[in-house]
Amino acid sequence: MEKMCYNCIQKSLNNTFMKKYVCIVCDYVYDPAQGDPDGGIMPGTAFEDIPSDWLCPVCGVGKEDFEPIED
Ligand SMILES: [Zn+2]
Repeated sequence: MEKMCYNCIQKSLNNTFMKKYVCIVCDYVYDPAQGDPDGGIMPGTAFEDIPSDWLCPVCGVGKEDFEPIED
């Protein structure tokens, strides 16, 4: 019987799903660990969970102009 660490699994899942996204217009990087406090996005918010009316804090484009950063 293998011993499972629930917290470790959750942590790795979060790391998998909480990708960084980069603005294709200005190269601003959205880091889920940092969020965008000035834009009302709490640290720990996945990009997918950001409201659709959120705008790039640097150049003002919408979420559709961001793409995920592949490690
Ligand atoms: Zn931008």
